[in-house]
Amino acid sequence: MSSSVVRAPLIAARASRARARGARRLSSVIVAARASSDARCFVFSAHRYEDETLRRALPNATYSSARLSLDTASLAQGHDAVCVFVDDDARGEVVDALAERGVKLILLRCAGFDNVDCERARERGISVLRVPAYDPLSISEHAVAMMMSLNRHLCASRDRLRMGNFTLDGLVGSSMRGKTVGVVGTGKIGRGVAEILKNGFQMRVLGYDKFEKDDFCGDYVSLDELLARSDVVSLHLPLTPETRGMICVETIAKMKEGTILINTSRGLLVDARAAIDGLYSGRIAALGLDVYENENRLFFKDFSSMNTNERMLVWDETMAILGSMPQVLVTPHTAFLTYEALDEIAKHTAENFRQFCAGERLEGANVVVDASVSAASTTT
Ligand code: NAD
Repeated sequence: MSSSVVRAPLIAARASRARARGARRLSSVIVAARASSDARCFVFSAHRYEDETLRRALPNATYSSARLSLDTASLAQGHDAVCVFVDDDARGEVVDALAERGVKLILLRCAGFDNVDCERARERGISVLRVPAYDPLSISEHAVAMMMSLNRHLCASRDRLRMGNFTLDGLVGSSMRGKTVGVVGTGKIGRGVAEILKNGFQMRVLGYDKFEKDDFCGDYVSLDELLARSDVVSLHLPLTPETRGMICVETIAKMKEGTILINTSRGLLVDARAAIDGLYSGRIAALGLDVYENENRLFFKDFSSMNTNERMLVWDETMAILGSMPQVLVTPHTAFLTYEALDEIAKHTAENFRQFCAGERLEGANVVVDASVSAASTTT
């Protein structure tokens, strides 16, 4: 008898005890789908850098480098779960395509879930679990690294070195000490940035957040005041209808002349064309982007291996302009990319899958959608 046949009744019994304890009512269909140790997971957007972490944590999953989209959803046929990353596309019609192929769970290997149509997932009986935090300081440190690289012209210096140019003109930076940083979004990552800059660089720290935190080490002000007073503005907000396009022509006009703007949150917080105009006018002195409004067509791809026709199909003029500007630094969504964060992502993703398969009650910050309950429980 196979071990899965032995385990299945035990797992079903555990699920039944959870129900008896008054846990949320699970529909019989969903319990049947979840209480299976044979549950299969299809991992989209698998990268080689995850070999040592995710593949070890989920050794029986099927791995593909394909990005989830309407064109690739059929790969999930025969799998109970799909595991996706930030730039996978799980909008409504893709969720429908997954549901039609029997998928019951979307496992996000990230915190943000703006790429998933959560309401559609609930309607289609698909739960959505995420990794709410994975070494947030990794992202805070990357934001600080971007500001320092831009402020001290490190990329320009390296480019000059390659050309045998050891001159100094054009490389003058400013000391961070005594300058003001505006942290927009003072959650886990924003607070990390604030602490590094206050304690390590003796910067003055201003913050703006819809929900102010007691342990923020700076002074809360309105967004307008933060923009008017900050030498560096760093964005650490989720992408929501409220925050989408927050940095636009109007808000850039409110910034101090010569601001360094850093975005490591979500690309759509910043209107990139407006930011380019801000760079031309000098309102923005330097721009650091780890995320970009059109990143799902660009990031994680190698354009140098495409032929011209393929390349021009996805060519992005705005990115081409940004890439040509020495005062712009773009990193391809790498702020999270540390061994520590990858370990956390793998560990929590495997635990989310285990909990779901075991039919355990889904609760906590990792639950975006619990499709077994009918009332809205989508977290924000
Ligand atoms: P968090 O939930 O701890 O903090 C987000 C903060 O934003 C909260 O304090 C919240 O109150 C505030 N907020 C939400 N909506 C707001 C609004 N409309 N106006 C003002 N404040 C608002 O999240 P976190 O872990 O600090 O992550 C911040 C962002 O970083 C996430 O949205 C995530 O998408 C992004 N992120 C990027 C990477 C990367 O590799 N580049 C990695 C992880 C997370």
